[in-house]
Amino acid sequence: MKKVILVRVGEIILKGLNRPVFEEKLVNNIKKSIGSLGKIAVIRSQARIYVEPVEDEYDYNYNEAIDRLTRVFGIVSVSPVLKIESDFNVIKEQSAKMVKNLIEKKCYSSFKVEAKRGNKKFPMQSPEISRELGSHIWENNQQLKVDVNNPDFIFYVEVRESTYIYSEIIPANGGMPIGTNGKAMLLLSGGIDSPVAGWMIAKRGVEIEAVHFYSYPYTSERAKDKVIELAKILASYCGQIKLHIVPFTDIQLEINDKCPEDELTIIMRRVMMEIAEKIAESVGAMALITGESVGQVASQTIQSLAVTNIVVDMPVFRPLIGMDKNEVIDRARKIGTFETSILPYEDCCTVFVAKHPKTKPRLEKILKSEELLNIEKLVEKAIADTEIIRITV
Ligand code: ATP
Ligand code: MG
Repeated sequence: MKKVILVRVGEIILKGLNRPVFEEKLVNNIKKSIGSLGKIAVIRSQARIYVEPVEDEYDYNYNEAIDRLTRVFGIVSVSPVLKIESDFNVIKEQSAKMVKNLIEKKCYSSFKVEAKRGNKKFPMQSPEISRELGSHIWENNQQLKVDVNNPDFIFYVEVRESTYIYSEIIPANGGMPIGTNGKAMLLLSGGIDSPVAGWMIAKRGVEIEAVHFYSYPYTSERAKDKVIELAKILASYCGQIKLHIVPFTDIQLEINDKCPEDELTIIMRRVMMEIAEKIAESVGAMALITGESVGQVASQTIQSLAVTNIVVDMPVFRPLIGMDKNEVIDRARKIGTFETSILPYEDCCTVFVAKHPKTKPRLEKILKSEELLNIEKLVEKAIADTEIIRITV
């Protein structure tokens, strides 16, 4: 008898001939995510993956392992499962016990049994297993009633070489395994939006690195710590993140000095994109990611986005583009970044900001203002002085 974890995969199943590649990545990501908790064996079987502890002490970390697996992209749901001998007496005894434990914790009053027989050598067929096991569970837990149409919980039995029994299905995030869709560079501020944007693209299997523009001493050391903390939360989904911290003060001072006040934000954003693209190229990332949403602020009107976008050749992913702030906040709460994002440390965008930034910038005019800047050297220096922090869980 052993506690194992049943992992269900989603979209990977649709991958046809490429499926083994996707599955292999997922299995590797599972091992990376929970390998440090104890020795495990990861066993693939049809559209499922079973994670089995090899050592007994693993019991101790069982809940932590389940929690971590719900964060691995490519997994649709997980179930804590008991693996037992395929012997009907053992199945009856363990099932009744499991249900007893369950109803001590939850106020369920009805159930049904769903049995699947994958092992044709087992002497009973699925409907018979469901029926017999249902009545045995009921005999031992008579406060429950059987309800085949609308039960409070379903008790699952899968008879294979061994038998697996469980009742709980914990939803995970789905998506694709990280590393199956190349790499992208996330522009990570300390705000609410950009961590969510990074999470959404990572969910599609894209490996993420992040770049943060830092304006010390106009922004504090704590503002940097906040971004590191956000990157850590993202890393709990992605496995690891390389965070590039770019010193941005000299560039901002130069822009502040030479350009019209109402163009500061847009010019600053153009320089950010340019630097992000250069760093992305140097690490083999093929796209940029931002947390922009159309119309949210002056720098995110359709005109501003066009003027910003034109600086770079890479595709820019803006997964929040059509989302309302409330929808982004909901998502930030779900993924666990919200509480950190709302800590009140200033961001470089909020320090050097115009009272009335342009909402309809014209490219020719912006290009003219940029001619006044002596920025090439400053950009080079900022990139050379970039600090790289490797963040793992
Ligand atoms: P967020 O909540 O992510 O800070 P925002 O609504 O405050 O976004 P802006 O400040 O206009 O919007 O920034 C738009 C996008 O530009 C951000 O989502 C982020 O991707 C990027 N960005 C802004 N400031 C920085 C920064 N200091 N470092 C890295 N990227 C940044
Ligand atoms: Mg911001």
